[in-house]
Amino acid sequence: MPVPISQMWTVATYVLKQKIAGRKRYPFVLMLEPLFRCNLACAGCGKIQYPAHILKKELSPEECFKAVDECGTPMVSIPGGEPLMHPQIDKIVEGLVRRKKYIYLCTNALLLKEKLDLFKPSKYLTFSVHMDGQREHHDFSVCREGGYDLAVDGIKEALKRGFRVTTNTTLFDGADPNSVRQFFDEMMALGVEGMMLSPGYSYDKAPDQKHFLGRARTRRTFRAILSNRKKGWQFNQSKLFLEFLMGKQQYACTPWGMPTYNVFGWQKPCYLLQDGYADTFQELLETTAWQNYGTESGNPKCANCMVHSGYEASAMDHTFSGLGGLWAAMKATFRVKYEDPDALDLLHEPAKPVHSYNPLIQIDKAKSQLEETRA
Ligand code: SF4
Repeated sequence: MPVPISQMWTVATYVLKQKIAGRKRYPFVLMLEPLFRCNLACAGCGKIQYPAHILKKELSPEECFKAVDECGTPMVSIPGGEPLMHPQIDKIVEGLVRRKKYIYLCTNALLLKEKLDLFKPSKYLTFSVHMDGQREHHDFSVCREGGYDLAVDGIKEALKRGFRVTTNTTLFDGADPNSVRQFFDEMMALGVEGMMLSPGYSYDKAPDQKHFLGRARTRRTFRAILSNRKKGWQFNQSKLFLEFLMGKQQYACTPWGMPTYNVFGWQKPCYLLQDGYADTFQELLETTAWQNYGTESGNPKCANCMVHSGYEASAMDHTFSGLGGLWAAMKATFRVKYEDPDALDLLHEPAKPVHSYNPLIQIDKAKSQLEETRA
């Protein structure tokens, strides 16, 4: 099932309008974080390490609408934290659907089944379920036994009720390309609309600092995974961004392309770094020292970064930058297989043991941590 034509048309006309208006820096997707609270404690996550008084904070629906109206993007991604834990998430979604925004509500899906009654199926609403791989790998990655099965139950129920569902997957060092490819088969067999991929970012707050991918390893891993593709795999993201991950495109970061708004305000410069906050989107654009960010800037915090929130907007901008970009995007869309015999050899290399370094947090422990933050 591909992305609806109305969504592709809305996004294409939006980007073209920015180009015609000559805007040098324009946003593409707003990353709206209504809370940092979560019902998981993933080892690679930099969001849930805040102190309890911050984890208790949340954006009101009105604050969310103000940010969305100010930013003006056709697509709004709602990560977190776990957005389904926000007591007014239904009001937030309802208000954004009324504004005809294409929403990607990013969830670990542990609460999806029980919260589905709060929402109505709509072409504007997609549940983007965080799945980090096959059962064993996902449970280790999110530090919770049984997390994969709960998420799959949520996906099945949402699909049964007619909701749009995609998956989003973050890959860390040690990812087994063969297992990731089998995971793609599993997700497509479930009937999801498409999959989104990104390498992890080395958050300095994340508890597990040892297993983030460097740039060369990122390209190698994604080349092994995404070459010699199976026909049925659908990816719900820019095909040129996937080529970038495979080392077939070179892009500079466009951190303003996916700006972040959360309980602190507009985050400088991107979804990942926190070098201050602005009160308005315009202030963010005007007061951020953009030249200090991106791999080419020499900023060590950006050295290994290839994440979607920095580079997917670069790929979109390339697509609409002229005939060359459109041609590259068309080739990437129709070049289904990406045949590469050398990449097949990479699939025969021995895989590292699945996260043997990463202790599981049992369900009861995760629950009691959550209750502590609520107290
Ligand atoms: S390279 Fe990564 S960390 Fe640096 S500004 Fe871009 S998205 Fe942020």
